[in-house]
Amino acid sequence: MNATDFSSLKLHPNLLKNLTILGYDLMTPIQKLSLPVILSGKDVIGQGKTGSGKTVAFGLGLLQKLDVKLFKLQSIVLCPTRELANQVAVEIQKLARVINNIKVVVLCGGMSFGLQIDSLRHGVHVVVGTPGRIEEHLRKGTLKLSYINTLVLDEADRMLDMGFQESVDNIIETMPTNRQTLLFSATCLDTITNITQRVMRSPIMVKVPLIN
Ligand code: ADP
Ligand code: MG
Repeated sequence: MNATDFSSLKLHPNLLKNLTILGYDLMTPIQKLSLPVILSGKDVIGQGKTGSGKTVAFGLGLLQKLDVKLFKLQSIVLCPTRELANQVAVEIQKLARVINNIKVVVLCGGMSFGLQIDSLRHGVHVVVGTPGRIEEHLRKGTLKLSYINTLVLDEADRMLDMGFQESVDNIIETMPTNRQTLLFSATCLDTITNITQRVMRSPIMVKVPLIN
């Protein structure tokens, strides 16, 4: 065991075993920097380019806290696009395949609202989606965020660029304040600073410098 092995973290044995099966032996730089802070329960702002392993970092963080027997929505990941939401959900399912009966649901626009309501009706643990559709579910009362313990804002810079600020704010307003908020972004512009100051609590900044 060394500091770049996942086994240096206090992860559930099943999550750890699964990482080995997936061939994730060593942590990427952003995982090495962010995971200890994420697992400590603190809010984290993670900056790193696409493909650096951010999804695995926040995915492990939210799964580690999940109580699968409590059939309530405990984690929500907001993404700028449908494509990204689907990719994130696939990665979380991969990490979570050792957790029996876990339910991850994708909620994005352009998909049948009725089918989404059906999949929510029987209980769900993790939601991954785009802000507009999630806001719509909240308005209609088909989604409740009162048990959320982890909020992830993935590709937050892109999400704000696309005009989702107001939806994100409306969604966050319905969540418990004593949650962990993890924000990931490729850049750190003023818009990001603004949202982190409003929705995060003493966040720790974790940054992997671009090499070229
Ligand atoms: P990001 O969210 O930063 O764009 P991802 O978390 O989606 O990056 O990871 C990019 C790719 O690298 C994925 O295909 C993922 O399966 C793989 N990956 C992530 N972490 C590791 C790791 N520690 N070891 C090997 N592969 C990894
Ligand atoms: Mg990503």
